[in-house]
Amino acid sequence: TSSRMFLADVPVVVEDVQRRSTTERAGVLADPGFGRHFTDHMFVARYQEGQGWYDARLTRYGPLPMDPGTAALHYAQSIFEGLKAYAQPDGSVATFRPEANAARFIRSAERLAMPPVPEEAFLAAVDALVDADRDWVPTGADQTLYLRPYQLASESFLGVRPAHEYLFLVIASPAGAYFPRGVHPVSVYVSEDYVRAAPGGTGDVKCAGNYAASLRPQQQASELGCDQVVYLDAVERRYIEELGGMNLFFVLGSGSDDGAAELVTPELSGTLLPGITRDSLITVARELGHRVTERKVSLEEWRQGVADGTVTETFACGTAAVITPVGEVKARTGDFTVGDGTPGTLTMRLREALLDIQHGRVADTHGWLHRV
Ligand code: PMP
Repeated sequence: TSSRMFLADVPVVVEDVQRRSTTERAGVLADPGFGRHFTDHMFVARYQEGQGWYDARLTRYGPLPMDPGTAALHYAQSIFEGLKAYAQPDGSVATFRPEANAARFIRSAERLAMPPVPEEAFLAAVDALVDADRDWVPTGADQTLYLRPYQLASESFLGVRPAHEYLFLVIASPAGAYFPRGVHPVSVYVSEDYVRAAPGGTGDVKCAGNYAASLRPQQQASELGCDQVVYLDAVERRYIEELGGMNLFFVLGSGSDDGAAELVTPELSGTLLPGITRDSLITVARELGHRVTERKVSLEEWRQGVADGTVTETFACGTAAVITPVGEVKARTGDFTVGDGTPGTLTMRLREALLDIQHGRVADTHGWLHRV
């Protein structure tokens, strides 16, 4: 680890950190939940205009000293990523398509006028942290180590302009199985009061502000007994975009006939986040012989399709939950239910196919696993 380089001229300094005891770690890993517990280390690097990135280190996980004038706290010049490390059957650890997260992180940085973290530096930072905390990668069924790279404007300045100082951090949090009691469909609420993203906005990048703005609609969904929010396009309020943190797929035709069903997912219109799970599933589904189409899907097409039997399954996908079947749909223009309350056949087949790749239970024919 000590020889890892963040950038050609910036070594990763590994501090000697007091680790928690095996017993304490085992206690956490027995029931990690999500996003609540963190590992022993964190990765931090600094950026200063004129100097570039410097002072990359793996240090003890703990509070950041922060000036009250820190720009990110005021104007949300702040971006993040989410990916996972998976324990492999041979005892090694692998992350899933981290290059794709690195590339998206660069796009997010550029949209928020931040200096991008080069891809190789992003990968080195994630690897360094996973390597140092590999004992924190849980090995239970469907358990993972969730990794959170993020970048924020750390300069203390209240003028509205791109900051001159930044922090890039990576933290890690053991995650339990998303569905510990078996996969069950979620209910969704189609938001007609709020939109997530407008053309020219920030919907296609992972900036912190997008998620702050999703909390009120999510609260509204909860009040109506729904698990998640479905967002429509901002212009016509007609086309399905995505959930607050997951992309959507629709199964047309019978999901149980081999290769017969077609998959449709909203096209990357510029206002939805290009999910890495979405992209991976398009590939996996095509390999299973299914036609996959990226195009506009209206709320009316979804409703009509469910009513006349064309749309047989709907699922959401993202790093956190992999695939989540969608059951009940609540909308001001009328509620409807996809399927019979149990997860769809193709939904579950794709879920298993992707999980098998991520957990190393099948050959990694795409080169998606990155061994640490
Ligand atoms: N949409 C949004 C808005 C998200 O925040 C996420 C999570 N990153 C996704 C979709 C799914 O993306 P991924 O498959 O890369 O996790």
